[in-house]
Amino acid sequence: MAQLSPVLKQATPVVATRGEGVYLFDADDRRYLDFTAGIGVTSTGHCHPTVVAAAQEQVGRLIHGQYTTVLHEPLLRLVDRMGEVLPEGLDRMFFTNSGSEAIEAALRLARQATGRPNVITFHGGFHGRTVAAASMTSSGTKFKAGFAPLMAGVQVSPFPDPGHFGWSQDEATAFALKQLDYTLQTLSQPDDTAAFFVEPVLGEGGYVPASTEFLAGLRERADRHGILLVVDEVQTGWGRTGKFWGGEHFGARPDILVTAKGLASGFPLSGIAASNALMEKAWPGSQGGTYGGNAVACAAAVATLDVIESEGLVANAEQRGAQLRQALEKVAGQHDAITDVRGLGLMLGNEFRDAEGKPDGAAAARVQSKAAELGLLLLTCGPWSQVVRFIPALVVGEQQVDDAAQLWAEAV
Ligand code: PLP
Repeated sequence: MAQLSPVLKQATPVVATRGEGVYLFDADDRRYLDFTAGIGVTSTGHCHPTVVAAAQEQVGRLIHGQYTTVLHEPLLRLVDRMGEVLPEGLDRMFFTNSGSEAIEAALRLARQATGRPNVITFHGGFHGRTVAAASMTSSGTKFKAGFAPLMAGVQVSPFPDPGHFGWSQDEATAFALKQLDYTLQTLSQPDDTAAFFVEPVLGEGGYVPASTEFLAGLRERADRHGILLVVDEVQTGWGRTGKFWGGEHFGARPDILVTAKGLASGFPLSGIAASNALMEKAWPGSQGGTYGGNAVACAAAVATLDVIESEGLVANAEQRGAQLRQALEKVAGQHDAITDVRGLGLMLGNEFRDAEGKPDGAAAARVQSKAAELGLLLLTCGPWSQVVRFIPALVVGEQQVDDAAQLWAEAV
């Protein structure tokens, strides 16, 4: 009988049997420092006791209640609590299961609310792998190759990436906003443009932070033209960057906020937040899904919020992020191959380039694989997979950051 593989491609050969905080263990009980956190998902660490208890309790009461028929307590509690953390003016939530699904919900809402067909996204942006979300993605050719035709109505405009042309942040921002105006005059005129979709920090695109001026420029153009500003906080939300939302670093004021990953510590849950007035414009029946807002996932999300608050995890992300950044910069200073350490909070990337200055995905992969051998799990990102990223759970401690930095230095 043919042996079935559970994955298309496996980056590291670890088969995890259990997780505890920032550690994963394999069948031989070998311990790994997990600085991937399930791609930034297990925000409170693996199997945080508070999250486990909330989920276990909920499993015994009600696993699933579909919200077109019944509402359930964990959903209502979560919505209530979200009110404490959402940016001002976003007073309604709608829940889905994955980041891509939430992006599609935001796209549907933006098109229905404005009656306009197009969206503008930004170079290096990643919004997911479903066909519409992949159509809005430009962080690497691999995310769209081979399954065209994609969704029509997407224009991609530059993101302010200073490293790319060796510019200052101001130069990169001015260029990005000029190009956006050009796009709005030519390829997608305002009357045809429903929304801008932007990440506060490019995630899969290589951990490049936006700028305050860029977000302000988007807001101003959105207001001037009746375009909606959709901020994709799938990877940057829930404390990851040292603030609750990544957009807070840049004064972002979204019309629609998209969230997923960190919100339920590993249970599949995502959603969009917008004002009541905007949400009312969704056509009845056009949003929804069988599993969205699952009761166990919602209970886990409420527990995640409790842990984030009671353990001060947003502040911890800032402090441990600063510690980690310093250590990574020290290693980068000793190796010409690492040309940039960037990101915010506990969302940090190391860019590898070759002697000619070209992005070097092969070098990044070699170091990633060596680190795994030494017991430190890491992921890559960036259009050429040339960035090795560090995204540990937000509960990571000072000693664990030191340990990871030491293993990293050894691997490099
Ligand atoms: N948006 C951003 C910014 C992401 O980083 C991701 C996933 O990495 C997505 C959307 C898609 O999320 P999912 O993989 O849960 O569909």
